[in-house]
Amino acid sequence: SSQAVQPLLQNLNPEQLAAVTLPAGHALILAGAGSGKTRVLTTRIAWLLQNGLATPGGILAVTFTNKAAKEMLTRLSAMLPINVRGMWIGTFHGLCNRLLRAHHKLAGLPQAFQILDTQDQLSAIKRLCKQFNVDEERFPPKQLAYFIAGCKEEGMRPRDVPAHDADTRKKVELYQLYEEQCQREGVVDFGELMLRSFELLRDNDPVRAHYQRRFAHILVDEFQDTNKLQYAWLKQMAGDVVDGCLHTQGSVLAVGDDDQSIYAFRGARVGNMQDFVREFDVQHQIKLEQNYRSYSNILDSANALISHNSRRLGKNLRTTQGPGEPVRIYEANSDLAEAQWMVDEIKQLVRDGEMPRKEIAVLYRSNAQSRVIESALFNASVPYRVYGGLRFFERAEIKHALAYLRLLENPHDDTSFLRVVNFPPRGIGARTLEVLQDAARSSGCSLHDAVSAVPGKAGTNLGAFVALVQVLREQTQGQNLRGIIGQVLESSGLLEHYRHEKEGADRLENLDELINAAESFVTQEGFGRDAVALPLDEHGNALTQSPASQGLDPDAPMLNAPGNVDADTGETLSPLAAFLTHAALEAGDNQAQAGQDAVQLMTVHASKGLEFDCVFIGGMEEGLFPHENSMSDRDGLEEERRLMYVAITRARKRLYLSHSQTRMLHGQTRYNVKSRFFDELPEEALKWITPRQAGFGSFAPDSGAARAYQSGARGQFGFKTEVFASPPVPPVKAAPGHGLRVGLAVFHTKFGEGKVLAIEGADADARAQVHFPRHGTKWLALSVAKLTIVE
Ligand code: ATP
Ligand code: MG
Repeated sequence: SSQAVQPLLQNLNPEQLAAVTLPAGHALILAGAGSGKTRVLTTRIAWLLQNGLATPGGILAVTFTNKAAKEMLTRLSAMLPINVRGMWIGTFHGLCNRLLRAHHKLAGLPQAFQILDTQDQLSAIKRLCKQFNVDEERFPPKQLAYFIAGCKEEGMRPRDVPAHDADTRKKVELYQLYEEQCQREGVVDFGELMLRSFELLRDNDPVRAHYQRRFAHILVDEFQDTNKLQYAWLKQMAGDVVDGCLHTQGSVLAVGDDDQSIYAFRGARVGNMQDFVREFDVQHQIKLEQNYRSYSNILDSANALISHNSRRLGKNLRTTQGPGEPVRIYEANSDLAEAQWMVDEIKQLVRDGEMPRKEIAVLYRSNAQSRVIESALFNASVPYRVYGGLRFFERAEIKHALAYLRLLENPHDDTSFLRVVNFPPRGIGARTLEVLQDAARSSGCSLHDAVSAVPGKAGTNLGAFVALVQVLREQTQGQNLRGIIGQVLESSGLLEHYRHEKEGADRLENLDELINAAESFVTQEGFGRDAVALPLDEHGNALTQSPASQGLDPDAPMLNAPGNVDADTGETLSPLAAFLTHAALEAGDNQAQAGQDAVQLMTVHASKGLEFDCVFIGGMEEGLFPHENSMSDRDGLEEERRLMYVAITRARKRLYLSHSQTRMLHGQTRYNVKSRFFDELPEEALKWITPRQAGFGSFAPDSGAARAYQSGARGQFGFKTEVFASPPVPPVKAAPGHGLRVGLAVFHTKFGEGKVLAIEGADADARAQVHFPRHGTKWLALSVAKLTIVE
């Protein structure tokens, strides 16, 4: 990076400074919203690096979203002239993925295992239920998915789950069958990523010892939302328990805010904070009490609201900024009118030059609320972007394309097989698939392998499909990612199919974007950016000198090494497999937005950690916010209040709250009363701007016109503004050429002689596709794999 090193510590307040420059040892920063927790965490990493107290490879930082991780990398590279590529900064899922790729054999997984998103997981469970004739009324697949995820979050395999009644026993049995199915197909769900890598660390002393030695500094943001398993995972990374005491080598810094714990429904445990203090014998606890984000009317509102919760750990939050504008409150007579009011207000803000569109956020409690707002924005031609709606990689046409691509990587992926075996339609009916599934079950093999057992015309059709995939696999060998995807879209018949579909134009455009997405993945992200592991010998000792022992050397080869590399052989994921992983992990999270000036729409959950000049919080009604599912018990209500606290504290300058007398939700008109949270805000900070009621007349929400309006076009900007942002990557020093070219014969210590099919990337990222007669075709990272050229 060409940027000058900034004086890192300037502008920090004394508590922040103390936190950034803490001596070694475990520490907890407990502080309210906008007090600079994330900033402290990032600055500490930079400070450690700058002062030679840590190396990039010796740092493990956990963020809550991929977006946050990218932001941290961007900020770091702005602060320091280092190459941040390959640093272990990411979400729990991202980091677990990395560990499992590096040690896939120990973890019992194929290196190219695929990741099931929530949607895939549900269809896998549905398939299982059908196969075993499970009564779906009694055991709804969604509930089973929830049950399995819950068990995994508790660290429990089927044998560990206490089952005292017949229902639970049945669920545990299905959990077991589901596990076997996933294992057979070489796929893992999100919960499995976490549990599998926890077990990997727990059960493999050398691996655990290696990472414990390596990561001298572990830093965790949003610690209040870690669940039990994530906390246990952190403990494995940090040290071993001997005689009931945790012995650690490095330092763990956790930052969090108990008032912002909003994932209890997913197993988050605020209690982890107290456990952390006790089990790690935390030496330093720091409170940050100054809020730098919001004017005091906003902050006072947040403080007053959250004071209605009991059982808080207790913090103060003040600001030196003035009161700023009052919090504006609007009452609409319908959700349509509410949305229209928002849009008018937004247009005015933008027209008056008060703020760019991307500094305006519209937050809502549940996803279902977004559509009306989207319609209103769309009709007014205001660019907007939805975070966390139906994400790009979850769209049907994209999932179809990805399913073909997955089958190229792994023909035994039954979920993908079933998704596209008859799409585009090839005359393979439900009956045929039943026969096929029965055959697969009785011989315990994948659908792919069972095809030959299906007789007659049906069998011929199935055979043609398998042959199609096989031919595609051969045709695409040695091609780059763009070529592979293009070929698959064409030969699979997907393009042809959508060309003839009535509303296929959008889908074709999205498929086009898939190719673009793949391209920017390869060029911007460098397809292995997500995983760097040191190669280990069989005792788990690093084969190269650990960067931790080399002082601050940004160009140390390991730091630039490609990712997704098998720690023993240097084998790496194909660009295709790496891209598929990226698609699965990104679909579970938000894409970073780069440059596009669009209004930001998202749920309150998705807004955590972010900030905007102006925030709208819509649907402030009983039953919606607080949500009806959470109103009946105190815990639920307190979590809703924390959510509201998170929502309010996203705003820097201006905050709008609105509610509506009527609302169309799930096809029904509801008559709502305004949220109890209004009564918990300080009157002197508020301004009620509602005009005289306009009456119901023409915009009655259940009139036909309103319904037509509501079902109007959705999110045209949704995908097109999607950009794959990546932190600026400082140039890598040129390394001596590897001397390989396509067609050369080479020798690998484990795989023997082979022939080079393709070469991608340069310098430390260089990788080659090599065909080994005895071991098949493999992608190898040239900086790790020892290849010699055979004369
Ligand atoms: P949240 O709880 O919402 O995640 P946080 O505690 O992580 O908030 P940050 O996002 O780190 O807070 O900081 C909030 C804002 O205040 C950011 O814009 C940050 O740059 C700014 N900020 C933090 N500390 C200072 C400081 N000492 N001087 C000026 N600005 C600061
Ligand atoms: Mg933060």
